[in-house]
Amino acid sequence: MLPGFCTILLRFRSRMPALTSAKCKRMRDLLNSSILHCPARIRQVVLRRLREDSAGTDELYHEKNEETRVQKIGRIFIGAALAVAALAATAQAPQPAAHHWAIVVHGGAGVIERATMKPEIEAAYRASITQATEAGAKVLEKGGSALDAIEAAIQILEDDPLFNAGRGAVFTAEGKNELDAAIMDGSNLKAGAVAGVTRTRHPISLARAVMEKSLHVMLIGAGADAFAASVGLEQVDPSFFFTERRWQSLVRQLQKEGRPIPPRPAGAPPPPSVTVAEIDAPGAHKYGTVGVVALDRKGNIAAGTSTGGTQGKQWGRVGDSPIIGAGTYASNQSCAVSATGTGEYFIRLGVAREVCNLVYFKGMTLQQAADQVIHKELESLHGDGGLIAITPDGKLAWSFNTPGMFRARLTEGGKLQIGVYNDEP
Ligand code: ASP
Repeated sequence: MLPGFCTILLRFRSRMPALTSAKCKRMRDLLNSSILHCPARIRQVVLRRLREDSAGTDELYHEKNEETRVQKIGRIFIGAALAVAALAATAQAPQPAAHHWAIVVHGGAGVIERATMKPEIEAAYRASITQATEAGAKVLEKGGSALDAIEAAIQILEDDPLFNAGRGAVFTAEGKNELDAAIMDGSNLKAGAVAGVTRTRHPISLARAVMEKSLHVMLIGAGADAFAASVGLEQVDPSFFFTERRWQSLVRQLQKEGRPIPPRPAGAPPPPSVTVAEIDAPGAHKYGTVGVVALDRKGNIAAGTSTGGTQGKQWGRVGDSPIIGAGTYASNQSCAVSATGTGEYFIRLGVAREVCNLVYFKGMTLQQAADQVIHKELESLHGDGGLIAITPDGKLAWSFNTPGMFRARLTEGGKLQIGVYNDEP
């Protein structure tokens, strides 16, 4: 967008916060999404200048002289109307095609190393991540929303026992699968999240239902499952989520730590006569959370994350994945992020929101912001993990400080890029 025009947009936008009517809110949203197309450099310079004199602007709104205030507001409306007219004019001019869609998927970060990864297991992970990415891409290709793409991709990963989400989730110290998920719509900052769910087959769909069909943002435990049932989401016996591999992994961990071993869960198949082949490296329970960020053809971005949390967790522990701003965040004004790693650090840093703030307030590129948070802020706390991110103008990023992170990305007309280890691009 032309720098001069961007400056005008920013001036109007700077005068909008004091106005609260529905029309003004709509206007503000329109201006916000237009400003996103301005070069970051200009956005930063002008925003800073406007912030400096915003105190003066606020005072103007609070003047006792009502006539003056009304005049000023009137002027702002006229100005905003002119901006919209200008926008409409640009809309009629030949425009590049609608936004190119894009999607990024992760399947968890952790101790994922070539030396200990069996080739057939690696191939299975790559195939699964590819399938989920392509399912999301198909939705976007047809013009579906970023939210639809995220839900489609995550449902596949939740059904896949390879991942620590839905079926295949890790066990708590009490021998249960307690599932967390969140989804956020960058176009309106609406969000839904669930924690400690034990009966809903697709926690990501439940998070979306919380966002779209309830008055709340976050539901937990039995109440969340009851809400899921009330809106017709598939309910399953908790043993649906049982996998022998995760069970034996829990038993090994608890034995090693000298903690009591809970009884084998009711409804689980009888124990096999031999130990299931160890398909993961030691520390494998540290990965497998799944997340997706997407950009749709309308230019909207969204983020979603689903997890079983950390193996051997106790006392109703909830990680970062369902915490909006920590493991999941999306705003069309900056970026969408899904994180994975030891959730306690991600909560303390507010990782997902922090990345978006660095993009919005500091004008960092998406990759710079992601690396700053993972390699500086997270590492300074000795935290481990990674994230994937996307902006409304189609920039994609991933960053992690673990030996590996299952990940893939695809943009309209591009080729699938998939990676596992930290020496891959
Ligand atoms: N972040 C998740 C949690 O702490 C776990 C993970 O990403 O592997 O619950």
